[in-house]
Amino acid sequence: LGAFFQPIQQLVQLYSTYQQGQSSITKLKSLLGTTPDVVEAPGAVDLPPVQGQITFDDVTFGYDSSRPVISGVSLDIRAGETVAFVGPTGAGKSTLAKLVTRFYDPTSGRVLIDGHDLRDVRIESLRRQLGVVPQEPFLFAGPLRDNIRFASPDASDDEVWAALRAVGLVEVVERMPQGLDTVVQERGQSLSSGERQLVALARAFLAQPRVLVLDEATSNLDLQSETKIEDALDVLLEQRTAILIAHRLSTAMKADRIVVVDDGRIVEVGSHDQLVAAGGKYTQMYATWTSQAAEVH
Ligand code: ATP
Repeated sequence: LGAFFQPIQQLVQLYSTYQQGQSSITKLKSLLGTTPDVVEAPGAVDLPPVQGQITFDDVTFGYDSSRPVISGVSLDIRAGETVAFVGPTGAGKSTLAKLVTRFYDPTSGRVLIDGHDLRDVRIESLRRQLGVVPQEPFLFAGPLRDNIRFASPDASDDEVWAALRAVGLVEVVERMPQGLDTVVQERGQSLSSGERQLVALARAFLAQPRVLVLDEATSNLDLQSETKIEDALDVLLEQRTAILIAHRLSTAMKADRIVVVDDGRIVEVGSHDQLVAAGGKYTQMYATWTSQAAEVH
């Protein structure tokens, strides 16, 4: 999953170069509109403001043509719905997310938002309407304020503080001698990995996207950050479509539907209660999760 935002990490390095003469965040954002992996269709049109319905229509995809990592996936996510992808390591969960953010195009089949095939729309007009919280969010070397305003550069300080409040970071930032002016390092050393994910959640809160894609951190977060992330999700998931790549039961349970992915295929779909009762793969995962939780407590 660390690979999810490799293209962005490269751009972050580019950003340092740009800082010399063209320091605007707009520049970085325009760079983010394209990646080497997908090509904009000559007749691509702007994606109109989205409601947030996402459709995978018989999607197959492989990073190299000899080995599909996604095979014949069909799924309809309703506008406003929260869906959690769960499944073993390497199952294809983050690859499915990368097809929605259009870091890649399907080898066959289609991914649609509100009925628009993603290949037919301008990439920038798609990304602008998506909020993405990667597992290891990238922070660029610059003031915390600009890191949070990344997708909403015109936001006021009041709005930034409101976003920080929504994710429980107000006290953390108030403790920093420079507050919002604190310069964050590129690899975010001054913040714990939980705090970095909270900064990314604050970014998403500020941008209020119709569609949120969140790749939950697997690394050992401190309990406080974990609780804050859970609480922030309750606020963030309201009134938008969300895809959660969930590694924790507590996150999966926030979803309206859980999609179990295994070896590039969807093997089960349903609510937590339905899947626990079904006696399949999810039931096994649930048993593992609950026994791990029992060990911790
Ligand atoms: P995890 O929970 O461990 O992150 P995942 O379910 O998200 O796993 P993916 O990251 O989607 O799984 O990976 C699916 C398959 O694709 C794996 O076999 C993985 O090794 C492979 N893969 C992922 N990214 C790339 C890439 N950039 N290039 C080549 N293969 C990749």
